[in-house]
Amino acid sequence: MKAGIVGLPNVGKSTLFNCLSNAKAQSANFPFCTIEPNIGVVNVPDPRLEKLEELVNPERVQPATVEIVDIAGLVKGASKGEGLGNQFLANIRETDAILHVLRCFDNDNIVHVDGNVDPIRDKETIDMELQLKDLETADKKLDKVKRAAKTGNKDAQKEEAVLLTIKAGLEAGTSVRALEFSEDDYTDFVKPSQFITDKPVMYVCNVDEGAAVSGNAYVEQVKETVKDENAEVLVLAIGTEADINELDDYEERQMFLQDIGLDEPGSAKLIRSAYKLLNQQTYFTAGVKEVRAWTVDIGASAPQAAGVIHTDFEKGFIRAEVIGYEDYVSFGSEAKVKEAGKMRVEGKNYVVKDGDVMHFLFNV
Ligand code: GDP
Repeated sequence: MKAGIVGLPNVGKSTLFNCLSNAKAQSANFPFCTIEPNIGVVNVPDPRLEKLEELVNPERVQPATVEIVDIAGLVKGASKGEGLGNQFLANIRETDAILHVLRCFDNDNIVHVDGNVDPIRDKETIDMELQLKDLETADKKLDKVKRAAKTGNKDAQKEEAVLLTIKAGLEAGTSVRALEFSEDDYTDFVKPSQFITDKPVMYVCNVDEGAAVSGNAYVEQVKETVKDENAEVLVLAIGTEADINELDDYEERQMFLQDIGLDEPGSAKLIRSAYKLLNQQTYFTAGVKEVRAWTVDIGASAPQAAGVIHTDFEKGFIRAEVIGYEDYVSFGSEAKVKEAGKMRVEGKNYVVKDGDVMHFLFNV
């Protein structure tokens, strides 16, 4: 699962990426590794994992991860192949969610590509490039489906109608995610086409130090503009956090964070939000060898969760022993939870809950 960082040049994308990739900024349990210069795997900070570690005292701890891609170079005209436009758009297509960074700080020394700070215009510029690219996709698909529709193929006719709705929406400046479809149409025709503007999005307002908690007038404009998009708006002082990350001493970093009104780096919150945006949740396995956070889709069944560990676990799934995270912590150990009769045995239809501590029984 990958989240891509997009935004106009000079809004703070690479500073954010570096901020996330700065090993110092993360506690010992949360290292970061860079796969390629612009791709990194970030561990998802989760206080529950630290609590389980404390209770179980395992040999090792493995947090959940999210892949972050810095998609630099998206500019006006990208959809027409301006700059390296098409390459960047291809990179975006491969991601599962979009973190859209908007410049919400004034600073005369940092040039804005369009002359002045205006996050709403910037958002529209990026949205338009992405929408134009999707329009191209829709047109290509329409060309293909038209003939079959004419010969009376019912499915082709349905697809044609959906594509025409998408085309009209995009031409009016509406992203695919904001259009309404029946569940069947969405699953059969919209989702498989992987439109860029259908990917879930989160807006990251990059503000100056003083606005890290309260936000500012730009942030208010962004919130007002996206209020019908059902998208999260996160306020982050990216430049300041990058500076704080440069400090070697953990205590010192905490002190500076507190100075700007935060008790943890905003980037930690961003990673957790990205994880949710990707529709992911965590279940735990807790043994003396390893305490580990595993990632499953929200709504996954117990066998699917077992399959994340090994496909054989899913195939041979018999049942799962499940302890709610809260129970685990309040009783303090698996043995005590069992004694209290709070361990549940669940079958193949069980829907995993975020934080479940699980143990699978399976046939090999
Ligand atoms: P990108 O082109 O979107 O990747 O932008 P960069 O991350 O390279 O940032 C462009 C410039 O803005 C750099 O000089 C950063 O140091 C600076 N910058 C980034 N975030 C902030 C911020 O929150 N406040 C201020 N004042 N400067 C920032």
